[in-house]
Amino acid sequence: MYDVTIIGAGVSGIFMAYQLTELHPDFKILLIDKGKELSERKCKARSKQMCSCDVCDQYIGFGGLGKSEGKFNYTNDFGGNLGRKIGSDRAGELMWEVDRILCSFGGDGAELYHTHSPELKRDAKKAGLEVLTTSVRHLGTKRSGLVFQKMYEFLRGRIELHFETDIYSIEKAECFNIITSKGIIQSKKVVLSTGNSGSEWMYDQCAQLGLLPGPARLDLGIRVEMRGNQLQALLKQTFETKLHIKRETFEATTYCMNPNGRIIRKYQHNLVMPDGQNKRERDEASSNLNFTLFVPTFYSSKEEADQVANQVIGRINRDTDRIVVQRLQDLRKKQTTTSETLRLNSIVPSLDSVAGNLIKEVPHIYLRALLEFFDCLEQLIGEQIDEETLLYGMDGKFYEAKIPTNDHFETKVSGLFLIGDCSGETHSLSQAAASGLYTAQMI
Ligand SMILES: Cc1cc2nc3c(=O)[nH]c(=O)nc-3n(C[C@H](O)[C@H](O)[C@H](O)COP(=O)(O)OP(=O)(O)OC[C@H]3O[C@@H](n4cnc5c(N)ncnc54)[C@H](O)[C@@H]3O)c2cc1C
Repeated sequence: MYDVTIIGAGVSGIFMAYQLTELHPDFKILLIDKGKELSERKCKARSKQMCSCDVCDQYIGFGGLGKSEGKFNYTNDFGGNLGRKIGSDRAGELMWEVDRILCSFGGDGAELYHTHSPELKRDAKKAGLEVLTTSVRHLGTKRSGLVFQKMYEFLRGRIELHFETDIYSIEKAECFNIITSKGIIQSKKVVLSTGNSGSEWMYDQCAQLGLLPGPARLDLGIRVEMRGNQLQALLKQTFETKLHIKRETFEATTYCMNPNGRIIRKYQHNLVMPDGQNKRERDEASSNLNFTLFVPTFYSSKEEADQVANQVIGRINRDTDRIVVQRLQDLRKKQTTTSETLRLNSIVPSLDSVAGNLIKEVPHIYLRALLEFFDCLEQLIGEQIDEETLLYGMDGKFYEAKIPTNDHFETKVSGLFLIGDCSGETHSLSQAAASGLYTAQMI
């Protein structure tokens, strides 16, 4: 019988397991993942067509999505509701504890930087924007892999790890009986940390235990590619910035700003979206800067949110990897960008996409949010945004519908916990990891 079984070896599950070994060396702990161990996660495909994984190694396996660019933002301003759930101070302390642990496994090779600037905050307010700030440890894909490998080696000697294991059902009696492809496991407590990739499975398991999800959030937005020096006035104080605009009918926030980065295709939920790639991921820097302006909306269920994403992004994709790009001046004049104007554009697109007219492709609210945001941004930087700025439709960020948990992340089923992104409370590496530490301390 295990004391604690953690299902999902992403950042939240790993940090929880780590903390349990520190606090309860006598506990019998099992960490199960349906994917592979880190060294076996080999998919390098940049497109779905090129990927031959049954369950793609890019998203599944030890490290979870922490195997991505590994950008740990230490903030309550964005990246989840951990601060609201357990208190901002506690959440802040835990995120710094995550950083300390990362550093002890080699994360300190990546420099810590901060995006706080009182002057910028003041100027942004005058222009009708709010600046969201953070401290960042950006590991990058390679270092992220090394850090998680070291964490794996640390855990391997202290807990049991089962990979490539399917879990068919979880039953609650005196203890939990977990029916897996490799036999039946018994555990006193069960923690689900299956992130976004395990959402369908998680909802099924929770439904069988009588737990039903609530409303779900979906962020959609246009990815913007501008002249590299356009935001110089803001970025001379910080490497990147996050700006927020709030109006009566919408609010929007910039996401994943990449000075000198490129735009690449992101494949998720059977949809193809423009995604930002940091300059550190390539040998050759681009002379552009990119970010997405996301507008969040809330739906009564995850299915409804997914349906909207499919309607909006799927309609653009047309069952291919089609992404549409339009120049800012064409959007403002309500005219189509042609491939000829795009060829002559002074801002060279870093993504191969189809020139077109976003007005015909994207719901009006996202374009309105973008244009109103640009008006404020022009005021903030004191210059016009280049009319040849490129706008790509359209990016999406998906969230889990929340299954209610108490302030210890425990569900109504006693002994069953949900942590990380599958709890619907975190949407970032640092907050997911911090939720793992917190729950380990509370269990
Ligand atoms: C492309 C991309 C890039 C991102 N980059 C960043 C970034 O740079 N910074 C940032 O803060 N956030 C980033 N995010 C968000 C961040 O990755 C997540 O918030 C974070 O990884 C959530 O951690 P988690 O432990 O909850 O879930 P995950 O990291 O997704 O881990 C879930 C784990 O559960 C396993 N699993 C799933 N289903 C099952 C099942 N049925 N049985 C057993 N195991 C299962 C998976 O294999 C996986 O290991 C990014 C997200 C994406 C999609």
